[in-house]
Amino acid sequence: MISPQRYFRESGFRAKKSLGQNFLIHAETVKKIADWADLREGETLLEIGPGLGALTEVLLARGFLVVAIERDRQLYAFLQTHFKERPCLRLLHDHALKINYADLFSHESPAHIVANLPYSISTPILERWIESRELFPRIHLLLQEEIVERIIAPVNSSDYGRLSIFVQTYYESHRGPKIPRGSFFPEPDVESRLVSLVRRDPPLVQDEIAGAFDDLVRRIFRHRRKTLRNSLRSRSLSPAQIEEILRSLNLNAQSRPETVSIQDLVRLMRALKGES
Ligand code: SAH
Repeated sequence: MISPQRYFRESGFRAKKSLGQNFLIHAETVKKIADWADLREGETLLEIGPGLGALTEVLLARGFLVVAIERDRQLYAFLQTHFKERPCLRLLHDHALKINYADLFSHESPAHIVANLPYSISTPILERWIESRELFPRIHLLLQEEIVERIIAPVNSSDYGRLSIFVQTYYESHRGPKIPRGSFFPEPDVESRLVSLVRRDPPLVQDEIAGAFDDLVRRIFRHRRKTLRNSLRSRSLSPAQIEEILRSLNLNAQSRPETVSIQDLVRLMRALKGES
């Protein structure tokens, strides 16, 4: 494995904070990440931000086909030389938020994601992947610990919110081990943890109603401290009608959004549309 400290020294490279560049420095940590990921023989993997190729190397050594997207020009050039003539690696110099994943993968030839993500873009990138979920059956990530807590948060917990609901609607989420700060160079300002997402087939919300569901979740969670009754206030329904709908679903009009499960949100959405 390439030593990031040594590469920095010899090439004059300086980590860019804006690109979330914190490189793994211990071979055991890289192995731990690859072991944690539930990967099966012959699968195609997608890695975002290969950096100096620590994880890429292990994934290739285990016989996987790897598509790796690196945004940093200098690191991309380094990787091109370092992994020259490795037919199982497809290296792309691109932006993970802008690339069109449907050009690379399809429902019939999906990719499993394994990555130590740049933390600054982890939420938008996760949203993009979930929107293209037919391409990504399993996602294994090293993320900032707070984001992992928000992803996996169950109903009735302080971290439960839009991100938890969006991810859990489409993926089962599993909290992985913590990776200490000292495992990176330079050391990040935040704690890191692994998380695994396994696609639900079918999802908790069917595709036909996904847009309306997301609208409702946004509306309810815009003001976390508002009661359900207040956040559902609208021109088309009177307060009495809203109370009646909530009562019919056994939901307390005074309760806060974090007490409503995904299943109850679906029932609420249907009732508001007059479908129940
Ligand atoms: N995987 C490596 C590096 C992690 S640091 C390791 O674990 O050691 C995050 C990496 O993501 C860096 O290489 C950074 O250049 C890259 N990166 C940052 N923003 C990106 C983007 N939008 N698209 C692709 N790669 C990006």
